[in-house]
Amino acid sequence: MDDVIIIGGSFAGLAAALQLGRARRKVTVLDTGLQRNRFAGRSHGVLGHDDKPPSAILAEARQQLARYPAIKLVNARADSISGAIDNFSVLTGEGESIGARRVILSYGVVDQMPDVPGYAEGWGKSIIPCPYCDGFEVAGQHWGLVWSGPQSMNQVRLFHDWTDRLTVFADGHDVTSEIRADLAGRQVPLVDGRITEIAHRWGHSATVKLDTGPDVIVDILFAHPRTKPSASLHETLGLATVNTPTGIALKTDERRETSTPGIYAAGDLANPGIPSVTTAIWQGAMAGIFAQQSMIT
Ligand SMILES: Cc1cc2nc3c(=O)[nH]c(=O)nc-3n(C[C@H](O)[C@H](O)[C@H](O)COP(=O)(O)OP(=O)(O)OC[C@H]3O[C@@H](n4cnc5c(N)ncnc54)[C@H](O)[C@@H]3O)c2cc1C
Repeated sequence: MDDVIIIGGSFAGLAAALQLGRARRKVTVLDTGLQRNRFAGRSHGVLGHDDKPPSAILAEARQQLARYPAIKLVNARADSISGAIDNFSVLTGEGESIGARRVILSYGVVDQMPDVPGYAEGWGKSIIPCPYCDGFEVAGQHWGLVWSGPQSMNQVRLFHDWTDRLTVFADGHDVTSEIRADLAGRQVPLVDGRITEIAHRWGHSATVKLDTGPDVIVDILFAHPRTKPSASLHETLGLATVNTPTGIALKTDERRETSTPGIYAAGDLANPGIPSVTTAIWQGAMAGIFAQQSMIT
């Protein structure tokens, strides 16, 4: 039996594995290789790894983990979890059953692309979610923001640090008169109407087509589609969740343990705040350490 099974072997999962492997705990990492930022050419803001392709950061991490004999990286999907603390059983897509005393869930979330032509094609290139990830590279350019609710006003305030040229797209949302006045005071145009198509040119330019009014061209478009966990294992287990502006996150305590004893969670799957590679690595490392500490006698 393993000490820990980690489900999801990207930034959070591999960080957990590193701590466990260094503590000489036997750990299996199951991963399907679809990390959230795979659509982006480069990853930013990760100390020591700034401006590298995300896949290169993960490849380097996997290479470093090969040093630890207690860590086994398996390219497989986890299909189900049963049992209880000290005796969990995880069934893989290949039908293999793996036993472990603890489980760490780090299977991330999926961005759900709206049914708008050009949206999915531009995701990670001319449509991006986060100014900390890619804002520096397009600072001073004409930014667009797809409104997703009152929380979008925080983005408007935030974006001033990167650009003075911002256009907001209401995209069918009912934007209140107070917000309209605030935007006008900041000289931020608000374009009403629903987005019907997004066309891309030169990789980093988006032409936003609307059901009312003329097209609007921006250099880069920020958007926050709804998210959903990449797997439903937490649902079957009945784990507690909290709402986030775009979906849900697993609820954990300060030791990253979920509502079920012995099951820990880390990374975007369990982050109701600002998702990032750095946060995922930190939460993963903590989940690994606390899972290990829970097994000492
Ligand atoms: C377009 C874009 C660009 C971004 N750019 C940046 C950036 O520049 N800097 C930054 O800090 N952050 C960036 N992010 C955010 C970053 O991608 C996430 O915060 C980070 O990937 C979260 O890591 P994670 O390990 O929690 O989840 P993920 O990286 O999403 O990994 C989850 C892993 O679990 C696997 N998995 C899913 N289901 C199963 C299952 N049932 N069994 C086994 N494995 C499974 C998946 O295949 C995947 O490998 C960006 C996000 C997007 C969408």
